[in-house]
Amino acid sequence: MRPINTAIIDIREETPSVRSFILDLSLDFIPGQYVMVWIRGVDEIPMSLSGSNMITVQKAGDATSALFGLGAGDTIGIRGPYGNGFDIRDPVLIVAGGVGAAPLAPLAEAACGMGYDMLTLLGARTQSELLFQQRFSDAGELMVATDDGSAGFHGQVTGLLDGAIDRYIYSCGPEPMMYALLLMLNDQELERARFSLHRYIKCGIGVCGACCIDPEGYRVCRDGPVFRGAELIDSEFGRYRRGADGVRS
Ligand SMILES: Cc1cc2nc3c(=O)[nH]c(=O)nc-3n(C[C@H](O)[C@H](O)[C@H](O)COP(=O)(O)OP(=O)(O)OC[C@H]3O[C@@H](n4cnc5c(N)ncnc54)[C@H](O)[C@@H]3O)c2cc1C
Repeated sequence: MRPINTAIIDIREETPSVRSFILDLSLDFIPGQYVMVWIRGVDEIPMSLSGSNMITVQKAGDATSALFGLGAGDTIGIRGPYGNGFDIRDPVLIVAGGVGAAPLAPLAEAACGMGYDMLTLLGARTQSELLFQQRFSDAGELMVATDDGSAGFHGQVTGLLDGAIDRYIYSCGPEPMMYALLLMLNDQELERARFSLHRYIKCGIGVCGACCIDPEGYRVCRDGPVFRGAELIDSEFGRYRRGADGVRS
């Protein structure tokens, strides 16, 4: 599939390190699905949809830095939406870390629209990096955690979990955070928990194998990016990953 040429119509500064790009299109999507974003002359990278016309990006390297260099009126290429997305069940517990909040904000809004009981645990390094606080608090109850104690609970977001774990869990964030959460769950909870993975995705359509995870060979781009905890507990998740060249690190 060739990318659709799309103009950036607005840019929002969400936190000191994260920007949302509002695009001149509207996609039907399931929260948790992503698009492949082609930044001409640089790279094509996966980005979750944070809205039907929106991606929310943290600067990480070449492609995201090039995206930060673009302004309203500039164009990018979009393929997708791809991947499975979240199946939303009541009652909802969102566990979000950093830019991992991007696919979870539309999930919170969809769950709220369905009248579901919503609790969000939102974590970040520091207060100014808490992403989409307003969207989460508009959708239900919100508790925050920061690594430096500048807002809410002082420590990792998983420190807020007490008593909330009997809900359907939806998580996205840094892999060590999600792995810590995974290890807290019993067999029943592993079935109920959903994790959205960040891996090197190249084709986005399940043919190249770049994003396969050991030992089952699940393709993150197509079988995921959302997996049940039970699918991850005996996998490479949290233990190792592969770089752009496919080498384990
Ligand atoms: C399904 C999915 C959804 C994502 N959604 C978001 C989002 O909403 N917001 C956001 O800021 N980031 C998101 N990411 C991560 C984002 O794709 C990477 O940060 C981006 O590709 C980095 O590219 P770069 O050239 O700027 O950095 P690079 O210098 O290439 O890499 C920096 C780091 O980014 C990661 N990375 C690089 N290329 C890829 C790739 N093709 N696939 C996955 N990870 C990669 C690697 O861990 C690498 O160490 C998502 C990743 C996946 C797989």
